[in-house]
Amino acid sequence: MSHTKVEVAVIGGGAAGISAARKLAAHRIDCLIVEARSRLGGRAYTVRDASGFALDMGCGWLHSADCNPWVAVATSQGRLFSKATPPRTTMTKVMPLETQRAFGAAMAALFEHVAQSAATGRDRPISELVPADGRWTGLLNAVMTYIAGAELDRMSTIDLDRYEDTELNWRLVEGYGAMIAASADKVATALESPVTRVDHSGRHIRIETPKGTIEADRAIVTLPTSIIGENEDLFFPALPHKTEAARGLPLGLDDKLFIALDNAEEFEVESRVFGRTDRAATGNYHFRPFGRPLIECYFAGRWAHELEAGGDDAFFAFAVSELTGLFGAEFARRLKPLRTHKWGVDPFACGSYSYAIPGAADQRAVLAAPVNERLFFAGEACSRHDFSTAHGAFITGSEAADRVIAARRNS
Ligand SMILES: Cc1cc2nc3c(=O)[nH]c(=O)nc-3n(C[C@H](O)[C@H](O)[C@H](O)COP(=O)(O)OP(=O)(O)OC[C@H]3O[C@@H](n4cnc5c(N)ncnc54)[C@H](O)[C@@H]3O)c2cc1C
Repeated sequence: MSHTKVEVAVIGGGAAGISAARKLAAHRIDCLIVEARSRLGGRAYTVRDASGFALDMGCGWLHSADCNPWVAVATSQGRLFSKATPPRTTMTKVMPLETQRAFGAAMAALFEHVAQSAATGRDRPISELVPADGRWTGLLNAVMTYIAGAELDRMSTIDLDRYEDTELNWRLVEGYGAMIAASADKVATALESPVTRVDHSGRHIRIETPKGTIEADRAIVTLPTSIIGENEDLFFPALPHKTEAARGLPLGLDDKLFIALDNAEEFEVESRVFGRTDRAATGNYHFRPFGRPLIECYFAGRWAHELEAGGDDAFFAFAVSELTGLFGAEFARRLKPLRTHKWGVDPFACGSYSYAIPGAADQRAVLAAPVNERLFFAGEACSRHDFSTAHGAFITGSEAADRVIAARRNS
């Protein structure tokens, strides 16, 4: 590619970009996904370990499965679902059931306080709703940081209150990421083409990449907020309201590490434990996902950034220290690291999923708004109710494609 002309350029080939391009292609609109990486899928990314298991390094759960549009796509591909419930409670050998019930009540109370606070219309950090030294403050912070990728002191109450989830969570045996990437099979794609500038000053939009320039009548931008927020020169003329919106919706961090576990049968299938219950800087360990002899470990928030700074080995060393703290020193012999992915230093993600900082919940609509009916925006951060998810990304991509189709009709 040195100079390409296309009617619609879709910038970014993750869940949102693929969804948009699929719809445009279905309407026989000439479109091209322009993607920085050598693969499609973005934060939807499945790899295989040595024993052949599909490991989702990014999204794994099809949240709100009863209304998740990826379910139909996966079904049309003949994919096998796992409908096992995600582990909600902790292993009883680590935390007695009664204690867990007390924590469950504290968690429910927090969501109730979030709803009440949001209803006042005054946004504030969620940490203000939790006593600084309450019995459950550490574990509430650990669970919420795992969910949102950021600690309670950084998160907007109003934004969290808008999040919707039907509580039905499925997975795909061969990987969510693999299914999303495969769904782009009929879409034209330019890989390894990082966009450096979107010049919308002239009659055509000029999309600049190191491989050449793409001219388009319209473009759908699906880049992560980390990229939009950090690159003021990405758009020409500049779009300061988009930069500001993206900065209000930074990506939190959640990194996974998969560990092989010897004699896994000792543990229940799909069971869970947190390394510590008194602070956010801990790991969430999901034992035997899909019944496999593995532990899927999650590290989130500021602590995940610190682990990334320590290199790949830091994740495993930390996991071993927490797991031997729970199950005894001998447990270390049963563990072997398999794969991790450092999303915080991944140059085309720079984080895992978006959260709104206090006061920025309405920035999602600002980010999503089209510019002059030529530049359209999609991506998980644009979603009001399904942000931070792959199905939220799908829906925003599909809506952006609808807007393009309507704009063509009106022009
Ligand atoms: C560890 C982890 C666990 C998760 N778990 C879940 C889960 O269980 N369920 C769920 O629903 N969601 C989950 N998510 C979130 C989900 O993966 C994302 O919300 C979703 O994939 C985002 O899609 P997107 O299209 O908005 O963004 P992206 O997937 O980030 O797509 C943007 C694309 O733009 C590309 N790009 C970046 N810069 C440039 C550039 N300059 N030029 C061209 N292209 C560029 C990127 O490479 C990428 O392909 C998880 C994410 C992570 C990281």
